[in-house]
Amino acid sequence: MVDLLPDDGRQHLVVIGNGMAGARAVEEILERGGAERFRITMFGDEPYGNYNRIMLSHVLAGEDAEEIYLNPLGWYADNDITLYAGVRVVRIDRFSRKVFANDGTILGYDKLIIATGSRTFFPPMDGMWVDDKTLTPGVFGFRTLDDTNAMLEYAQEHRRAVVIGGGLLGLEAAYGLQQHGLEVHVVQSGPVLMNQQLDEEAGAILRRVVERLGITVHLGKRTTAVRSAGTVSGVLFGDGSSIDCDMVVLTAGIRPNVGLGVVSGLTVERAIVTDDQMRAVDDPDIYAVGECAQHRGEVYGLVAPLWEQATVLADHITGADPKAAYHGSRIATKLKVAGVDLASMGLKHPEKEDDEFVRFSEPRRGVYKSVVIRDGKLVGATLLGDVGKVAFLTQSFDRGLPLPEERVELLFELAGPSGEQGAAEMDDSVQVCNCNGVSKGDLVACVRNGTRSVSGVMAATRAGKGCGACKGLVCDIVDWATGGDVEVDVSAGWYVPSIPMDKPTLMAACRERGLRSVSAVFSELAPDGEDAGSKMALASLLKVLWNDEYVDERDARFINDRVHANIQRDGTFSVVPQIKGGVTNAEQLRRIADVADKYAIPMIKITGGQRIDLLGVRKEDLPGVWADLDMPSGYAYGKSFRTVKTCVGTDFCRFGLGDSTGLGRDMEQRYQGLDSPAKMKLAVAGCPRNCSEALVKDVGVVAVGEDRWEVYVGGAAGASVRKGDLLATVTGRDTALRLCGTFMQYYRENARWLERTYDFVPRVGLDELKALLVDDRDGIVAGLDERMQVATDAYRDPWREGREPVTSGQFANSLPLVPLPRVPVRNGSVASNGGLPAAAAPFASGAGTADRTESGA
Ligand SMILES: Cc1cc2nc3c(=O)[nH]c(=O)nc-3n(C[C@H](O)[C@H](O)[C@H](O)COP(=O)(O)OP(=O)(O)OC[C@H]3O[C@@H](n4cnc5c(N)ncnc54)[C@H](O)[C@@H]3O)c2cc1C
Ligand code: SF4
Repeated sequence: MVDLLPDDGRQHLVVIGNGMAGARAVEEILERGGAERFRITMFGDEPYGNYNRIMLSHVLAGEDAEEIYLNPLGWYADNDITLYAGVRVVRIDRFSRKVFANDGTILGYDKLIIATGSRTFFPPMDGMWVDDKTLTPGVFGFRTLDDTNAMLEYAQEHRRAVVIGGGLLGLEAAYGLQQHGLEVHVVQSGPVLMNQQLDEEAGAILRRVVERLGITVHLGKRTTAVRSAGTVSGVLFGDGSSIDCDMVVLTAGIRPNVGLGVVSGLTVERAIVTDDQMRAVDDPDIYAVGECAQHRGEVYGLVAPLWEQATVLADHITGADPKAAYHGSRIATKLKVAGVDLASMGLKHPEKEDDEFVRFSEPRRGVYKSVVIRDGKLVGATLLGDVGKVAFLTQSFDRGLPLPEERVELLFELAGPSGEQGAAEMDDSVQVCNCNGVSKGDLVACVRNGTRSVSGVMAATRAGKGCGACKGLVCDIVDWATGGDVEVDVSAGWYVPSIPMDKPTLMAACRERGLRSVSAVFSELAPDGEDAGSKMALASLLKVLWNDEYVDERDARFINDRVHANIQRDGTFSVVPQIKGGVTNAEQLRRIADVADKYAIPMIKITGGQRIDLLGVRKEDLPGVWADLDMPSGYAYGKSFRTVKTCVGTDFCRFGLGDSTGLGRDMEQRYQGLDSPAKMKLAVAGCPRNCSEALVKDVGVVAVGEDRWEVYVGGAAGASVRKGDLLATVTGRDTALRLCGTFMQYYRENARWLERTYDFVPRVGLDELKALLVDDRDGIVAGLDERMQVATDAYRDPWREGREPVTSGQFANSLPLVPLPRVPVRNGSVASNGGLPAAAAPFASGAGTADRTESGA
């Protein structure tokens, strides 16, 4: 039992649920100066920072999961928020005003926000569960990042999936799985796909579009059972038919997580009942927001309403506007389903005799449009496949505007408003980007404040950064707001948004003026002064420029760089000692084993880069672990040179044509720890059989015999997969070593912040790189090599800071440590429930037992 938070005069605000509504409410509170009024503690039973749940569909379709974080773990630390990530609140005692968590934590609160969202609904069905907590292997929900990762992993080994539920989520799941080569069937119990948004005719058109993608649709089929023999082998339907499959995804509805509200005596109907200030009707100090809240009888399942709720909540709780009131949301939805544009609002077909119904359908092109008009006002609209009129219709729907006499103008651009005029006529309050809650007024204000390019406005407001369905409209509005004078985005070429210079110009300016620290760069070169979002990128650039003369300011570092280890989802760290070329010895292994015993390291893992990863190290133990290991850092955490993977080459392999191990170790010795715009993974293979996968590394070297080496650049085999481009075939190991360095230095000096080589190489172009780095067309190679030499000479093992901390608090723990809830301690075996504590079960979605750690090695 712990309640160790200091009493500093501020009220204690506890937030249960670290999802889209909870985190947004906290952002809004901070924006209103809430940090002065509240100490903030958040509990989230997902072991991550807050991410954009909408983007899970994109992740399932193969996009990078790292891109979806809205508030990464560092954000909480930076905003002085205590986050219990991976910890579930199991009880609220409203009388003693305390929350109880499943890790034993008990905290008092002054104000409480419940933002627990929803979970997948698993209809009662034979064969779905192994026991009351464990789904049959092969059955998944689609709600969380863990669900998504579990599906992705399972999809690699399996061929045929059935998605139960033909709504938005079902189609997104089907599309995502199909991208991984699975045969996918969507099963819908009713007669229409997306029946909440579409009528029969539109649904039939969508069905054709979906089937054209190669997804089979089964309508009017009620699934009664999952067939399994240990794992899923099929699904059975009420009509006696069945489909063989090895994977089943449930997308047939969601249920609000209201268990906490029920057990703490709050009024719960379909969700926690709130007043217009988003407070529970029974308790003025408890607020509910998002999908777990019921307001005036409505429970919403989309993000747009929760942005409005979060704003009202923040206005009220901070006192910024005590009269703020939420009056409900009119839902006009814009979606991109399986790559198809869809917009829907209000009624999908006429309900009264006098209702006008105008529709157009062109099944061959997958286009359907309809409007429902009552008493001269728009009360419903559906646009499928062509959403060109969405701005105008949304406006008419929201405002009850008079409609054109020629009703057909509601569906087509005739003499009616063009896209631009549509933008002009929209009211400022109309929500343009549903995913991120951005209104036309926000976009216009952004333009008025001086941002005149589309990408600048998108970056500043986040509009268009969700499902992407609103991008066209954002362009129209920016175009209109700038009076047709949209700036070609010069800032797209700037290295950081706060300084109007591309990278080479900025480097030259820093060199000329001797600017060695981030603050010095801001004060001399940034017109508007310091900008938090630019700090890390500038720090990286200055390190490349000044090496050991760089003046380090710790606030310009990611948490990983501050403590030279990779933060894990529970707030502990992973430690990867340097093992050059992946070659170790008994003495090192013995030391690693001793350290693992001494510090009770919960997991030791061999990484994809052939290194040994000690996972679950407490921050305050880092100096001790490093001292006892007595090995240099393996750089598994930074934006820097990482590892060189090698095969056994000529030492042991009968096919070996070159000493890959030796070259790999030399490379790691020479280039260890070099800072760079993004991580750099390398490999050397002893022959074209390529056992160390050199063709899919940032830099890969392959021996081809007679001391000749091929040097590949720009390869990747992560979320993006790209075969590297052959930069040159050179003779002599030293030449290969040097050419790798020349390329890496050019990349360090010219790549954008966080631009991996797989983007950089195609952007610059292989021919250009060959001309610059191999033919030395512009005479830059000697300079690059010289600067690389200075950089390698300046190498200093960062783990030495274990002995000489830079600040007294460098290794003090600031994040609460929690037992690793989903990273099972595996002594050669896998925990059957994924390590999920039993206490978490009552409200758990129950789906997926995937574990995920980011070793970064
Ligand atoms: C795949 C997918 C695609 C979607 N696409 C769209 C779309 O295109 N457009 C759209 O508008 N909406 C979309 N949505 C819906 C949208 O994501 C939700 O409306 C939104 O996330 C709701 O936010 P929330 O904070 O209420 O709930 P959530 O985002 O679910 O957050 C709730 C959080 O609380 C945590 N929690 C629950 N109980 C506890 C507890 N007792 N203790 C601690 N933590 C707890 C949960 O683990 C979760 O992290 C999509 C949803 C999914 C799953
Ligand atoms: S890449 Fe060639 S040399 Fe290296 S291990 Fe494989 S077969 Fe042997």
